[in-house]
Amino acid sequence: MTSTTGPMTDRSLAARPHPSRKPCLTAVLRMAGLRPTRQRVALAELLFGGPHRHVSAEQLHGEAATASVNVSLATIYNTLHQFHEAGLLREVAIDASRSYFDTDTSDHHHFYVEDEQRMIDIPADAVEFKTLPKAPAGMEVAHVDVVIRVRKAPV
Ligand SMILES: [Zn+2]
Repeated sequence: MTSTTGPMTDRSLAARPHPSRKPCLTAVLRMAGLRPTRQRVALAELLFGGPHRHVSAEQLHGEAATASVNVSLATIYNTLHQFHEAGLLREVAIDASRSYFDTDTSDHHHFYVEDEQRMIDIPADAVEFKTLPKAPAGMEVAHVDVVIRVRKAPV
């Protein structure tokens, strides 16, 4: 096939601004059964606007403030839990007071770097179980998630 794209076209393509993700995120929220309010869309943009990541409510609150999105920490918590319940986020609990929300909801495990309070993904197939206890009567295993806590090794 003969290409009709000359250097002029290439340049004009490069200069074109990236289309906004807003309409797309609105659709994602709607499909998840959530009304796309201004706050939800703004927080969804912060959460899903880049590569997959793990974020705590406090971190997201800080990012929202930086992006001039005016929301309380309580609203951040509520929104994160709504996104989690709608299947848009996965919650990884580190301890009673600390949870991370993972934008990658596929099956995988985590390293938790204790000194840096940071999570690193471990592919699902890197962890194998020899035996798993049977789920209690009338229940089934929803998913298994492993958190391996690591710290800097002494030199
Ligand atoms: Zn993850």
